[in-house]
Amino acid sequence: MKLVFATHNQNKFEEIKAMLPEHIQLLSLNDIGCTEEIEETGETIEQNAALKAQYVKETYDYDCFADDTGLEVESLNNAPGVYSARYAGEEKSDNKNVEKLLEELKDKDNRTARFKTVIALTINEQNNLFTGICTGQITKQKCGSGGFGYDPIFKPTGYTKTFAEMTLTEKATISHRGKAVKQLVDYLKQ
Ligand code: IMP
Repeated sequence: MKLVFATHNQNKFEEIKAMLPEHIQLLSLNDIGCTEEIEETGETIEQNAALKAQYVKETYDYDCFADDTGLEVESLNNAPGVYSARYAGEEKSDNKNVEKLLEELKDKDNRTARFKTVIALTINEQNNLFTGICTGQITKQKCGSGGFGYDPIFKPTGYTKTFAEMTLTEKATISHRGKAVKQLVDYLKQ
């Protein structure tokens, strides 16, 4: 069964591919010739995930799922949220985003945050949303060299390591995306 994962991010593609059952042939946007950037114009994480999945279905006629993730920081009124990728500007630099967040939190005692992933699936003319949440703390400095995005400064609740210090498999077991993908996989197995 062919299914497109609507992302240009190779890290995420590999991360999710490792979690899917073998009977699913996962295709990337490059695999189907979609090299353009799909604009994320939604005002919520749910809207962004849904509009990416629908774009691929309408433009390329492939069953598809798309994810959108935001980091919600309690003491910043849940910012950066839906704007997590562009937190430090349109260039979407992971490093600058991390530096900006550390700066914003420099005088804050409450460093509680959560990652939220929404996966929108468009399959057999039906649309579904799956949500995964992972709570944790923003560390005071970067730790670890794995992962991507805010991984070096996010320590999930109950762990002494940041996501960037974990293996892919370890992270996938507890992560927001892992939880959302588990629901997606359970649905696809039905
Ligand atoms: P996207 O919706 O997956 O493009 O993610 C939005 C923003 O959150 C980007 O800045 C990503 O780098 C960041 N992000 C998404 N997932 C993760 C993750 O698992 N760890 C750290 N940062 C992430």
